[in-house]
Amino acid sequence: MKSAYENDAFRPKGPRHSGLQNAADIFYDVRVKLLLHTCCAPCSVMCIESLRAEGIDPVLFWYNPNIHPYTEYKNRRDTLIAYAAALNLELVTRDEYGLRAFIAGLYAPGIEAENPAVRCAYCYRLRLEAAARTAAERGFDAFSTTLLASPYQKHELICETAETADRQNGIRFLYRDFRPSYREGQRKAREAGLYTQKYCGCVFSEEERYLK
Ligand code: SF4
Repeated sequence: MKSAYENDAFRPKGPRHSGLQNAADIFYDVRVKLLLHTCCAPCSVMCIESLRAEGIDPVLFWYNPNIHPYTEYKNRRDTLIAYAAALNLELVTRDEYGLRAFIAGLYAPGIEAENPAVRCAYCYRLRLEAAARTAAERGFDAFSTTLLASPYQKHELICETAETADRQNGIRFLYRDFRPSYREGQRKAREAGLYTQKYCGCVFSEEERYLK
């Protein structure tokens, strides 16, 4: 019997991803057991809503060692835990506050930590490789990420990183362009009283946000 990965019905009817393509053009015929890497509760609002509209009830995955300092990390993690419980969604938590390891990784030989593109590539790789590996190990059909919701993130770089992680781990990356509903998601998050962060996550992004 073919696995969902091999099943042609599972494959998208268009290119796997393109920031220019409508999500509606990329449609799967079967229900997908999906692990959704979740950067924070507010960004997850419309991702979850639109996936559920497709009949996909994602399992959320928290792994964000890029979020600093600890109080910020805790706020975002605890908000997601409460939100997942309120939605009756399963949440897999890899609870690792990663300040030292994250900084050490960025300043490893050959990585230009001061270059935001290089820094974010490292950050995406860290999180999406963990999501792909966890999805493969736990028998999911595919993984995706709420990072695809934010117009402030490097969307194409996220896709490229996720596609590399999918090849390396033998698990499908399910692409959706969630960006068109980003504002609506943020509004709904505020209405729901969810904690909403003021910067991307790492200490560098906090500095860029406030040192102006
Ligand atoms: S700016 Fe955001 S995506 Fe880039 S390295 Fe920092 S936390 Fe990660």
